[in-house]
Amino acid sequence: MRIVIIGAGVLGASAAFHLARAGAPVTVVDAAMAGRATAAGAGIICPWVSGVEDQAFYRLYAGGGEYYPDLVARLAEAGETDLGYRRTGALLVSGDAQELAWIERMARQRSAPAMGAITRLSEHQARKLFPPLRPGLGGVHVAGGARVDGRRLAAALLRAAEQSGATVVRDDRVTGVDVGSERIAADRVIVAAGAWADAVLRPAGVALGVTPQRGQIVHLRLEGVETADWPVILPPGSHYIVPFDGGRIVAGATRESAAGFDDRVTAAGQAEVLAEALHIAPGLGEATVIETRVGFRPAAPRPLLGWVRGVEGLAVANGLGAAGLTIGPLAGRLLADMVTGQAGLLDLAPFNPARYEAVGTVGALR
Ligand SMILES: Cc1cc2nc3c(=O)[nH]c(=O)nc-3n(C[C@H](O)[C@H](O)[C@H](O)COP(=O)(O)OP(=O)(O)OC[C@H]3O[C@@H](n4cnc5c(N)ncnc54)[C@H](O)[C@@H]3O)c2cc1C
Repeated sequence: MRIVIIGAGVLGASAAFHLARAGAPVTVVDAAMAGRATAAGAGIICPWVSGVEDQAFYRLYAGGGEYYPDLVARLAEAGETDLGYRRTGALLVSGDAQELAWIERMARQRSAPAMGAITRLSEHQARKLFPPLRPGLGGVHVAGGARVDGRRLAAALLRAAEQSGATVVRDDRVTGVDVGSERIAADRVIVAAGAWADAVLRPAGVALGVTPQRGQIVHLRLEGVETADWPVILPPGSHYIVPFDGGRIVAGATRESAAGFDDRVTAAGQAEVLAEALHIAPGLGEATVIETRVGFRPAAPRPLLGWVRGVEGLAVANGLGAAGLTIGPLAGRLLADMVTGQAGLLDLAPFNPARYEAVGTVGALR
């Protein structure tokens, strides 16, 4: 059974890795689109404190967080350890004691083994863990919070997939179910093309309704400071600060639903991200601005993972929105299990894209 995956973001790369490890012949094609989400994502893995209320979505999200140590171990077995992954903990901060009490209660309600210890921290304790913080902020520390570098993770998954026999076609573009000018026969096709999925699926008569949500995210460097162990900072709202090794601090991010596929860094986007970061952590004011990345989150009301009705052999993996670096590795595994007919770790029924009617056939890919 020959399988072709369109898109090598975290979802496609993870599906490729798990399929190749299971011995399936798999080819991955990626067009290296500007604004691919995996290359821009902040990399926070802390689903337990998210505002997600949809229970099925939350189970998948939390499952993604729980799956990371397993994935990291599997990649290490394949010799891949350069992922930027570290369980640094996450620190939810606020200057309002009542709000912190509410955050702590909410976190304890969601308590799960992978979440680790939940600890209320004083202003002094919070600043000890993250010195640039504004005075007056207390915190709730979640020990199981982690961060990962999406670019390095996807690259490692692809290398490990290749090592297990997968073929990776880089910088080539799929138009519908045709790839470039060469025809590749396939029994199964997984479209993991992120925000571009509808363009890929149009020739098959499928419309998922996935839309791009632009995120601008600024990378800073604190010169001469080792930040590898600093926790992820989660203030109220949608902005955050994610420390990586060697002084690199990522401040994110805008959530822009009306920008289409415009991949520019805008003055307003840059200003918003820096203002929010410096409001929470004025100690970052002297940091060097290294770069601003732009990515398109594939936005849908719910993740879409499964077979498309009406086109035998066609599956989609999409709609992970702002949670894809957390969910992607697990979702790729679930997809691989589905395609090879194995019982999955989680029921994919709530994410069944079968409601999308389709007209067309899969079996002739180029
Ligand atoms: C600023 C920002 C911050 C984020 N922060 C976090 C976070 O902290 N935690 C978290 O869990 N998630 C985060 N996310 C979300 C996460 O990055 C995405 O949900 C995830 O990366 C989506 O992965 P994907 O594989 O579905 O899509 P993508 O990574 O976009 O991959 C799709 C791939 O398809 C390819 N493609 C498209 N069209 C074609 C074609 N015609 N032919 C061939 N290939 C094609 C593209 O080149 C691309 O590589 C963030 C996202 C952004 C933008």
